[in-house]
Amino acid sequence: MDVAQPGNTTSDDRSEALQLIATPRKKEIVKYLFYESSATLKELAELLKITFPTAAKLIEELQQENVVLVHDESRSSGGRRSAQYHLNPQAGYILCVDSGRLNTKLAIMNLGREILAHRNFRSPVFKGDNGFIPLLKESVFSMLEETGVSMKNILGLGVGIPGFVDSESGISYSFLNYFDKPISITLSETFGLPVVIANDVNLMAHAEHHFGLAKNAGDALIINLGWGIGMGFILNNEVYMGGNGFAGEFGHIQVDPDGVPCHCGKYGCLETVASGEAISRIAIQRLKNGEKSLLAYDYADDLSQITARKIVNVAKEGDEFSIRLLQESGESIGRCLAIVMQILNPKMIILGGKHSHAGRLITNSLEKCITQYTNPKIAEDVVIVQSDLGDASNLLGAAGLVIEKIVCAEA
Ligand SMILES: [Zn+2]
Repeated sequence: MDVAQPGNTTSDDRSEALQLIATPRKKEIVKYLFYESSATLKELAELLKITFPTAAKLIEELQQENVVLVHDESRSSGGRRSAQYHLNPQAGYILCVDSGRLNTKLAIMNLGREILAHRNFRSPVFKGDNGFIPLLKESVFSMLEETGVSMKNILGLGVGIPGFVDSESGISYSFLNYFDKPISITLSETFGLPVVIANDVNLMAHAEHHFGLAKNAGDALIINLGWGIGMGFILNNEVYMGGNGFAGEFGHIQVDPDGVPCHCGKYGCLETVASGEAISRIAIQRLKNGEKSLLAYDYADDLSQITARKIVNVAKEGDEFSIRLLQESGESIGRCLAIVMQILNPKMIILGGKHSHAGRLITNSLEKCITQYTNPKIAEDVVIVQSDLGDASNLLGAAGLVIEKIVCAEA
C-alpha cells in the first residue's frame, strides 16, 4: 500500500497524534476503537491477548496523550472494568475523497467518524487538463476554513478512484493518470500529506466490512451499481483486493461478443448493457425508435436528459418500459453474478452505489438468475441486501484505509 510522503514534510511536523500512538499495541487499540466506536478494557485485553493491567496501562497512556477518552466512567456500575473508552474525536482528522467518473465527493472526518464538512464537484477525470487538482484544492481549503481544522492536524488523505488502481505503487491506470508522477505522489506534494489510494469499490467493500451489513458476514460480494459496475470481495473476513489491487472488474466481463465498444477498449462488456450509463443510453435509443414510456412525456424536449436515476424513479411509479429496462439490466448482472457465486460461494450479496435504490426492481432479477444459473447448494442460504451506508460508504472506506495504512501502519 502506498503511503506517499512528500519530501519536505517530516513526521515531526505532522499531527502530534500520529507520533503519540507509535507503538504497535497502541496502534491496534486506535484501529479497533475507530472501527468499533468504543471498547472496555476487558475487550481490549482480549483483542490484544494481553493482561488486563497491561491494557489499562496502554489506555492510561493514550488518555494522557489525549488520543483516547473515557465515556461517563463515573456512572459505570462496574467501575473501570466496564468503562467504555473511545477515540478523542479531536485528536486528528482525515480527508476522504471519493473520485467518481462523473462526480467527486470529499469530506473531512474526525476520529469519531463524524463528517464535519463535505463538498462535491463535477469530476474532470476524462480530461487531460489537470483540472482535478485545482478543484480538489479549492474544496479542501474551503472545508478547512469552514471547520477551523488546521492542515497540520490532518492525519492523511484517502482517495477512492474507479478502474485499475495499484495501491502499492500509488498509480491509477484508468483515471487521473495524466500527471507526470503517480497520482498519490502528486496529491501528497499538493497537500503535504501522506496519501493512500484504492479502487472505489474496494473502499466500498472496506466500509461494508467494518461498518455495514457485512460486518459479521465473513464472506460477502459487494456490487457497486453506478455509472459503471464493480465488485468488491470480503473473503475469510478480509477485503480481498487481488494480486495488484485489480480484483473485481466485474463490469468488464464480456456478455455480448457482438456488443458495443466499452470504454475499457473491449466490446460487449457487462457495463455496456447493464450499467447506469448503459440503461440511460438504451432507454434513449428505444424511445427514439418509438417505444412508449412516461419518460417520453417527461423528457419530450430533450431525451438526452434521461439518467438511470430518473429511469428508476419512473419505474417506481409503474412505468412498464422502465421496469423492463431494469429487469434486463438485473438479468445481465445476475448471469455474471451466478458465475462468481459458483466459484466463491458467498453468504451475502450487498448492492451499493447510487443506482442500488432500484431495490426490488433489480434484486428480483438477480434472485431469479441465482436460482436459475447456480447449483441449489450455492443458492440456498445466500442473502441479497441493499447497503445501508448510503452516500458516505466510500468516504468511510477511505477513512478506514487512512487509519490502517497511515495512522496505524506498521513501522
Ligand atoms: Zn469493458
